[in-house]
Amino acid sequence: MRIILLGPPGAGKGTQARRLMEKYDIVQIATGDIFRENVRTETPLGKQVEVILKEGRLVPDSILTEMISERIDRSDCRNGFILDGFPRNVVQAEALEKMLKEKGLCLDCVVQIEVDDENLIERISGRYSCSSCGEVYHDKFKKPSRPESCDKCGDFGKFIRRTDDNKESVRTRLEVYHTQTAPILPFYRSREILKSVNGMAGMDEVTRQIEAVLKAENGCNRLSAE
Ligand code: AMP
Repeated sequence: MRIILLGPPGAGKGTQARRLMEKYDIVQIATGDIFRENVRTETPLGKQVEVILKEGRLVPDSILTEMISERIDRSDCRNGFILDGFPRNVVQAEALEKMLKEKGLCLDCVVQIEVDDENLIERISGRYSCSSCGEVYHDKFKKPSRPESCDKCGDFGKFIRRTDDNKESVRTRLEVYHTQTAPILPFYRSREILKSVNGMAGMDEVTRQIEAVLKAENGCNRLSAE
């Protein structure tokens, strides 16, 4: 299964992607995580994108398309993948379509997680994650059962906060989403593979809705049958 999760920052793409990854035995490809790891380990790419990430702007398209193409070719993607954070504009969506075609692959579904903007600043500014396993927590909405200890992997004292989860960059990231990313919704709607779920519901309910959508949808078969 090959799917894209779409939604503004804070919509819960990462959390849902991790759940789907376990359920369907597919890989999560989170472009933001890849960049953050490069920044952390101070690679040439990390140095190139560090300031862009901090300010909440988009990394140049050419870097993304090459990175995704190479990532999709790896053997762990043979069952499929969830794209989380890519594509983020129409140029990237078109490049992805071309790239998949060249590789003889297609998308099953694009899932839009719909959320109200007002809640996003609160959602984002309170969140943190376990640096060992990536599980996401929130100061208000999802605290670990024991302070400092990850419920999922049990590691202690490994919680981190993203440097771009501050008010200023969140505002830029939301603006970037509305001006550059939202225009890809009609792109996928016209290909009849766009489905929406209510991201304001609780986490488990959002997962349930996504699973229902994926069960009903088989865009890849439909597209290739045309
Ligand atoms: P995310 O973790 O998805 O919120 O991404 C964090 C940051 O990584 C974004 O604010 C961008 O600076 C960069 N980034 C991630 N994915 C992309 C993309 N597809 N295109 C351009 N920049 C990206």
